[in-house]
Amino acid sequence: MALHRIFRAVIMGPPGSGKGTVSGRIGKSFGLKHISSGDILRANINAKTELGLLMKSCIDQGRLAPDDIMSRLILSDLRALDQSAWLLDGFPRTVDQAESLDEAYRLDTVINLDVPFQTIQQRLTSRWTHLPSGRVYNIDFNPPKVPGLDDVTGEPLVQRDDDTPETVTRRLKAYETQTEPVLEFYRSKGVLQTFSGTETNKIWPHVEAFLHSKLPSGGQKRA
Ligand code: ATP
Ligand code: MG
Repeated sequence: MALHRIFRAVIMGPPGSGKGTVSGRIGKSFGLKHISSGDILRANINAKTELGLLMKSCIDQGRLAPDDIMSRLILSDLRALDQSAWLLDGFPRTVDQAESLDEAYRLDTVINLDVPFQTIQQRLTSRWTHLPSGRVYNIDFNPPKVPGLDDVTGEPLVQRDDDTPETVTRRLKAYETQTEPVLEFYRSKGVLQTFSGTETNKIWPHVEAFLHSKLPSGGQKRA
């Protein structure tokens, strides 16, 4: 008898490495629920919630939000998901967060998008975002059908406040010092899968093939 358990994955990579784009494709192709910590924070800022007001200056300066707040926020969202398969994007971002997640869930895989920093710097400044959904476009290689408008809703796209050159540099620094150690954490657990490249469209087929090998049917994994 084939027992099934729920597929749980994390996607990692420096800011602007294509996590959002790849996550969207994974969600569509494999039926995993995409949970983006950055999208959740930006939704809170937009709605001017207490959390959003508290976190806004942190984010705008390219600094990480406090671990205890992030872990509580994301773990409670995961609990609410119950029986769905998920893909976490933007969390965990520190070893402390990775340990909190580890206490609650066993991960099937951690997808690591390895994109050179130089590529990223130039990419982030040509990026446009649909804030309500988190969909991202790039005027150079992934433009919206109508300039300035989201393909799905037709709503306006914006540039993120933290996509300025100085803040991007600060975010990359935070990635190097605080998030790279998380890769080691997952490597030592044997769940890390790294995909290297400079273009999302070239990396994607490899990610897709890898997930097909792990996940024959939408979100269900053979035990
Ligand atoms: P990308 O632009 O590719 O999404 P990113 O990873 O820098 O790059 P988000 O994941 O959207 O961007 O996060 C934006 C900001 O939100 C971060 O710079 C940080 O301030 C805050 N943030 C998001 N997730 C976390 C987290 N897990 N822990 C701490 N801060 C976080
Ligand atoms: Mg993102």
